[in-house]
Amino acid sequence: MSEVIVIGGGIAGICAALELLDAGRSVLLLERDTEDNFGGLAKESFGGIFLVGTPEQRRAGIRDTPELALADWHAFGELDPADRWPCAWAEAYVHRCHDEVGVWLRERGVGFLPAPHWVERGQFTPGNSVPRFHIVWGTGHHLALRLIERLRNHPQRARLDLRFGQRVESVLTADGAVAGCSGFAEAGGEPFEARAGAVIVAAGGFNGNIERVRQHWHEDWNSPPPVILNGSHRYADGRLHDAVDAVGGRLTHLDAMWNYAAGVRHPRPRKPGHGLSLVPPRSALWLDWRGRRIGPMPLVTGFDTRDLVAQVCAQERQYSWQLMNRRIALKELAVSGAEFNPSIRDRKKLAFLRDLLFGNRWLYDEMIGNCADFVTGRDLPELVKRMNALQGDDAVSLDEIRAAAESYDAQIDRGQTFHNDEQLRRIAYVRHWKGDRIRTCKFRKILDPDAGPLIAVREFIISRKSLGGIQTDLQSRVLDHAGQPIAGLYAAGEAAGFGGGGMHGLRALEGGFLGGCVLSGRIAGQSAATIT
Ligand SMILES: Cc1cc2nc3c(=O)[nH]c(=O)nc-3n(C[C@H](O)[C@H](O)[C@H](O)COP(=O)(O)OP(=O)(O)OC[C@H]3O[C@@H](n4cnc5c(N)ncnc54)[C@H](O)[C@@H]3O)c2cc1C
Repeated sequence: MSEVIVIGGGIAGICAALELLDAGRSVLLLERDTEDNFGGLAKESFGGIFLVGTPEQRRAGIRDTPELALADWHAFGELDPADRWPCAWAEAYVHRCHDEVGVWLRERGVGFLPAPHWVERGQFTPGNSVPRFHIVWGTGHHLALRLIERLRNHPQRARLDLRFGQRVESVLTADGAVAGCSGFAEAGGEPFEARAGAVIVAAGGFNGNIERVRQHWHEDWNSPPPVILNGSHRYADGRLHDAVDAVGGRLTHLDAMWNYAAGVRHPRPRKPGHGLSLVPPRSALWLDWRGRRIGPMPLVTGFDTRDLVAQVCAQERQYSWQLMNRRIALKELAVSGAEFNPSIRDRKKLAFLRDLLFGNRWLYDEMIGNCADFVTGRDLPELVKRMNALQGDDAVSLDEIRAAAESYDAQIDRGQTFHNDEQLRRIAYVRHWKGDRIRTCKFRKILDPDAGPLIAVREFIISRKSLGGIQTDLQSRVLDHAGQPIAGLYAAGEAAGFGGGGMHGLRALEGGFLGGCVLSGRIAGQSAATIT
C-alpha cells in the first residue's frame, strides 16, 4: 500500500508526485489514459506560462512586479474580493510563480523563448499591462517530457507505482477521513480499490465533456451554440468532480470557463468533435454567418478571449467566418498547441526562424489541404460559393462580404493618417511590441490581387479550460461546504480551478493554466507529504 494516491498523470499530478518523492513518500499514480499519453494536456499544449519579473522580461525592457500583476489579474478576472480562496490563490500565484514555477522549471531543464508574448491586454476591462506569456522552448511537449523524465529517474523511483489504464470513479472514506479510491480498468472493466492515507485529485477539468460544458454555460454567453468543438482532454469529463462532491467537497465557479472563438475541426480527429483552436489572424476580417463584419467593435484577438466568445455567441447563428488571403495567412495563421508548432516543439532554431521570416508554409498547406473548415477562392464570387457549399445553404451574401472587404481595404488605401477603424488602430498598437510586429502584417488589404487566393475559415466555439472546480485552501486541501478541510483529500491543477476552485476569476491572463498546475500540484504534494 502506498502512502499517497495521485489521481491523474497530467502536469499537476506529475508535479505532486515529484514533491512526494522528494519528501520520501511512497506514491501510487493512477492514470486512466495509456502510457503514451502520460503528461495529459500539458504535452499537447503550446507551453506558454504566466511569469512575473523574469530575466526574459528584463532583457526585453519590461518592468514587472507581483503588485502590478495582481492588479491586472483582479481587473481582468473581475474577482470578487469576498471570494476568499480564489483571491488568496491569485495573490499567492503572482508572488510565488517566479521562484516556485519559473526557477523550479529552469532547474529541471526547461527554458523559454527570449521574448514573452503579450496576450490578453484587455478590451473593456484592463488586462496584462506588460508581456508575461513565457513560451517553453520545446512547447508543453518538452515541459511534460522533462518532468516525466525527472519522475522516472528520481532517486526515490522505487517508491513510485505508476499504473495506466485505471479509471477512478470514487473516493473512499473511513472513520471520517479519506482512505483511498476505487474504479475500473479502462480495458476489460476489472474493478479495483486502492488504499492510502491521502488522495490528491489531479484529474483535470470537465471541458472534454461537451454536455457538461453546455450544462454550466455562463449566462453572459447567450445559449450554448449547437456546435461546440472539443479542445480539451478526452477524459476531462468531471467524473472526479462528482466523486469529490459525493464526499462533501465543494465545487465552485463551474460556469467560469476559458473557451475560444476560433475552433476548426481537426484534420485527423482523435476524439469525437476534436477541434483545433486557431490563433485568429489579426489582419483577417471577422464576419458573421452572413458575411457581415461583426461589430460595431470589430473582433481582434489578443485583448479579451472571453469577449470574442460572447460576441460570436450573441449572433443569430453562433459560428463565424474569418476572411483573409494567402499573404495574411502565411504571416499570421497559427494554431495553439504543440502539434501544429513543430519547429518550436522539436526545438529547431533554423526552422523556427525560417517560419517567422518567410511565413509558415507548412501550416498553410496543412490547413488549406486538410482542414474541412478552410475554403479558398480566386475571387469573392468563387469563395462565397464554396463557403455556402461548406455550410450547405445560401447564408453568406456576396454583397455583404464584398461591402465589408471593400470598405476595410478603402481605409487602408487612404493611408494610416486617415485610418478610422478599430481593427486598424489595434493592428498599429500591437505592432509596437516586437513580439507582435514580426507576426502581424502592416495593414494588409484583403482583396489585394497579388496576395491571393482568398481564404475563408469557418470557426466554431471550442471548449478548453475549466476555470472553476474543486475548492481548495492554500495548502491544496479540499474544503467542504462549511469551508473546513476534508481530512486526507487534496486537489490540484485544472480540477481545482488551478487553485482555490477558480483562481483566475472570470477571465485568465493566459499561461496561468500550466503555471497554476505546477504551483498547485507542487503544493498538494508538499502538503500531502506531511500526513502522519
Ligand atoms: C492545445 C492546448 C494548448 C494549451 N496551451 C496552453 C498554454 O500555452 N499555456 C497554458 O497555461 N495552458 C495551456 N493549455 C492548458 C493546459 O495544458 C491545461 O490546463 C493543463 O495541462 C491541465 O493539466 P492538469 O494536470 O490539471 O490536467 P490534465 O492535463 O487534463 O491531466 C489530467 C489527467 O487525469 C487523467 N484522468 C482524468 N480522469 C481520470 C479518472 N477518472 N481516473 C484516472 N485518471 C483520470 C487524464 O487522463 C489526464 O491524463 C493548453 C491546452 C491545450 C489542449
